[in-house]
Amino acid sequence: MPQYLPERIAEVERKIAEAALNVNRKPTDIKLVAVTKTISLEIIRQAVDLGLKELGENRVQELSEKHQALPAVNWHLIGHLQKNKVRHVVGKVKLVHSLDSYGLAVELNKRSEAMGLVTDALVQVNVAQEKTKHGVDPAEVMDFVHTVSAFEHLNVKGLMTVAPFVSDPEEVRPVFRELHRQFDYLKTMDIPHVDMQYLSMGMSNDYKVAIEEGSNLVRIGSKIFGKRI
Ligand SMILES: *Cc1c(COP(=O)(O)O)cnc(C)c1O
Repeated sequence: MPQYLPERIAEVERKIAEAALNVNRKPTDIKLVAVTKTISLEIIRQAVDLGLKELGENRVQELSEKHQALPAVNWHLIGHLQKNKVRHVVGKVKLVHSLDSYGLAVELNKRSEAMGLVTDALVQVNVAQEKTKHGVDPAEVMDFVHTVSAFEHLNVKGLMTVAPFVSDPEEVRPVFRELHRQFDYLKTMDIPHVDMQYLSMGMSNDYKVAIEEGSNLVRIGSKIFGKRI
């Protein structure tokens, strides 16, 4: 096993706890999704043996292959999902983090119904309204959640965002704060098939700030597995 793996996992877990305690939150309230895109099955198996049980992939093909090799892991789809690939995902993932269109909700619901199950998903919000990123416009989140709440085989379990990449994560604090505000507001509402449980925000570069701003699910790749090439 590469020497770095246990150390890096311990370090990330320590920093997650530290960020939580900074703002008087319980470290155990924050879930870590280890992002394994481009990482080999050999290394992933070692990470699982070291206690990582929630793994995230951003591509459907790669997710399918890794799910087949490691079906007992809780897989998270964190990248954009095309409607024509929904059939490769439903039934394999614990959580889809990237519900970003009505058409996708239709397909997820249809496929889940056909398989006799309910898919849990987070609404991805493009808080910073970046042209290069997917996600529902922040002004449209309320309407979107209400619309998709009509689907019986799709549960909205929270919100997700990918903040702009910046060298100083302090710059994106307002992005996380805004999503937290929307999350809290939706939490007060009683909407069918909507249970605001997860606020998925924070990556290697910005998870500390994201946790300080209320994230309870961080998606971390390179801080654990090293730089992807
Ligand atoms: C790759 C990826 C991550 C993890 O990125 P790191 O910077 O390596 O931690 C998190 N979320 C999404 C959506 C990603 O695509």
